[in-house]
Amino acid sequence: MTTAPIGVLGGTFDPIHYGHLRLGEELGETLKLGEVRFVPSGTPPHRQAPYAAAEHRLAMVRLAAGGNARFQVDECEVRRAGPGYTFDTLAGLRADAGASRPLVLLLGADAFLEFATWHRWHEIFGLAHIAVAHRPGSPPERWAERMPQPLAREYAARFMPQPLATHLQPAGGIVVVPFTALDISATAIRDMLLAGASPRYLLPAAVLDYIRSHRLYS
Ligand code: ATP
Repeated sequence: MTTAPIGVLGGTFDPIHYGHLRLGEELGETLKLGEVRFVPSGTPPHRQAPYAAAEHRLAMVRLAAGGNARFQVDECEVRRAGPGYTFDTLAGLRADAGASRPLVLLLGADAFLEFATWHRWHEIFGLAHIAVAHRPGSPPERWAERMPQPLAREYAARFMPQPLATHLQPAGGIVVVPFTALDISATAIRDMLLAGASPRYLLPAAVLDYIRSHRLYS
């Protein structure tokens, strides 16, 4: 049985696109993760209801993740009644994976900067490491001014300069991993579809076919 860390990549995936897939691929490689688990949200607690139903978003994640041996799709938040909190997802995963296997929550920098608003965010450090990917428009030098004090304190205390240090303990560290800038967002893709413009090559062809055949976002 492998003990390489499990990466967890949560999102609304409304729809999933190449930004998400490159995040999983690059962080999977850089951090030498045993698997990258995509966890589509059910009813996200932080934002308005997604545009596409959870079943559709899940189906699109399955299409996109298929064929990559490291990628797994986890339905736990879609199946859970009520808001799917990352804390609960990680607690469930921790119970399944055992106490010693490292878990790594994979976040874009924009998501990390909002982390201190998450349900039981502080306790998440007891369950997993956090790996933050630089996202376009958000280089690490500029985070300081946008980081709220409680998060800045945790960042200073938990930052690990060597990303592979995530293999040495099950949880609790923060690593920052460079990431190829891909300025793609689900919002922009939805806007294109609504305007009748083509989002081709921003997301997998199978996902775009699915969107068209189910008349999503139009
Ligand atoms: P929306 O435009 O609807 O806000 P989104 O494209 O940002 O959606 P989410 O499902 O909110 O997608 O994102 C899930 C995770 O993927 C977050 O951690 C987010 O930071 C990250 N992410 C999204 N787009 C990119 C991208 N282009 N590059 C790197 N990370 C990304």
